[in-house]
Amino acid sequence: MNKSAHKTIVIIGGGAAGFFCAANIPHRPGQKVILLEKSNKWLSKVKVSGGGRCNVTHNADSIAAMSKKYPRGEKFVKKTFHHFFVPDTIAWFRQRGVVLKTEADNRMFPVTDESQTIIDCLMQEVQRQGVDLRMQHAVQSVSPAADGGYTIQLQGREALFADVVVIASGGFPKLDMFEWLKPLGHQINPPVPSLFTFNIPKHPITQFMGLSVPDAQVRINGTKLQQSGPLLITHWGLSGPAVLKLSAYSALYLAEQQYQFKIQVNWLNQFNEETLRQHLLEYRQMHPQQKVMNTQGLGLPARLWEYMMQESSIAADMRWGDLPAKDFNRFVKNIAAAEFEVKGKTTFKEEFVTAGGIDLSEVDSNTMESKLQKGIYFAGEILNIDGVTGGFNFQNAWTTGFIAAQSIAAS
Ligand SMILES: Cc1cc2nc3c(=O)[nH]c(=O)nc-3n(C[C@H](O)[C@H](O)[C@H](O)COP(=O)(O)OP(=O)(O)OC[C@H]3O[C@@H](n4cnc5c(N)ncnc54)[C@H](O)[C@@H]3O)c2cc1C
Repeated sequence: MNKSAHKTIVIIGGGAAGFFCAANIPHRPGQKVILLEKSNKWLSKVKVSGGGRCNVTHNADSIAAMSKKYPRGEKFVKKTFHHFFVPDTIAWFRQRGVVLKTEADNRMFPVTDESQTIIDCLMQEVQRQGVDLRMQHAVQSVSPAADGGYTIQLQGREALFADVVVIASGGFPKLDMFEWLKPLGHQINPPVPSLFTFNIPKHPITQFMGLSVPDAQVRINGTKLQQSGPLLITHWGLSGPAVLKLSAYSALYLAEQQYQFKIQVNWLNQFNEETLRQHLLEYRQMHPQQKVMNTQGLGLPARLWEYMMQESSIAADMRWGDLPAKDFNRFVKNIAAAEFEVKGKTTFKEEFVTAGGIDLSEVDSNTMESKLQKGIYFAGEILNIDGVTGGFNFQNAWTTGFIAAQSIAAS
C-alpha cells in the first residue's frame, strides 16, 4: 500500500449515492477520486428501479411534507434537504440534458421512461470529473491508518490508502454484513425489511386477485399503526400503497411480531364503521325495494360487494327493506372493519429497501461526515434512513451524496 502524493478520496459503492457523490466532487489537480464497486455492474439498482423507468424523485410541496415520507430519518432529512432538495435534483439533471416529468401521483421519472438515461448521465459526469472507476473491487474493511487517513483492505487485491473515504455501500439485509465497518466504531441499527406486502394464505378474498379499491384504511390490531390509500388484492394477500406504507412505518414492530399479526381493513375509507352504518340505514329507508346487490354510489367493485354480502349471509336477491338487523350489522363490519390474519410477508420487488444502518446521531447532517472519524463520510441507504415507495429513497441518495461531495470539496 502506497501513500500517494495526491489527496486520495475513495468512494465505496457504485450505486446512486456513490455516483452522485463522485459526480459532484470537482476535478482538481493534486486530488484523486477512486470509486470502488464490488460487483461487475455499475448502478445496478438504478437500472431496475421504477420498473426500468427509474423513479428519480418525488414532486413534494415542501421539505416538511417530504420528510414525513421517511419512517426512519425524518428529522435528519429535514436538515439535509435544506442543502439539496427536489428542485435541486430536477435542475441538476436538466443542466445535464435529462428532463424529468411528474406523474399524477407526483412520482418523477425521466421523460424517456428509461432508467438508462439516468445511468448514462451519471456515468458521463463521473468520467468528466476524471473519477477512477474500479469494478470488482470488494472492500473487506476500512480502518484508521497509524499516521492519519484510512487503510482500505480489498478482497484478493493490494490494500489502498485514502485520506478521505465515502461509504456509499447501500443497505444490507443482515447485521453481520456490516462487520467490515466495525473498525470505525459506528453504532449500527439492526436491519429489518421495509416495503413489503401482507400474506393472507388461502383466504377467500385472494380469489379477487387484481381487484383494487381507491381508498382503504388498513390498521394493525392492538396498535395505533394505520395507513390509507389504494389497496390491491393479490393472489397471496394484500398489497398496494396502503399496505406498503404501513409495512414501512411498522417495519420494526412487525419484525418483532415475526410477521404474524392481525389487521382491520376499512374498504371504504370515506366512512368509518359508524358513519357507514348511518349512510346505509338512510339508503335502506330511501330504497327499501332495491336489492342490496344493486346499491349505487359507494365505489366498491361489484365482485367485492357481492363477496361482502356472501360473507354476511345476505342472499343475492335480498332487498334492503327485508334485510335482518343481524346481517346488516355484519355487512357493515365486513366493509368497514374486516379482520384478516396476516401470516408472513412478501418482498415488494418494485422498490425494496431495508430499514436500519449507521446511526444518524453519529453523522453530521451538514456535511455527512462521521462525528467519530474525521474524513469518513456516509451517503445513501447505508444510513438509517429509508423512505416509502415513490422516489424518496433515491432523493436521499442524491441529497446525501451531494452534501458529502460539497463538504469534501470545501475541506
Ligand atoms: C428493484 C428495486 C427498485 C427500486 N426502485 C426505486 C425507485 O424507483 N425509486 C427510489 O427512490 N428508490 C428505488 N429503490 C430503492 C433505491 O434503489 C435505493 O434506495 C438506492 O439504490 C440506494 O442507493 P445507494 O447508492 O445508497 O445503494 P445501492 O444502490 O445499493 O449501491 C451500493 C453499491 O455498493 C456496492 N457495495 C456494497 N458493499 C460493498 C463493498 N464492501 N465493497 C465495494 N462495493 C460495495 C454494492 O454492490 C452496490 O452496487 C429500488 C430498489 C430496488 C431493489
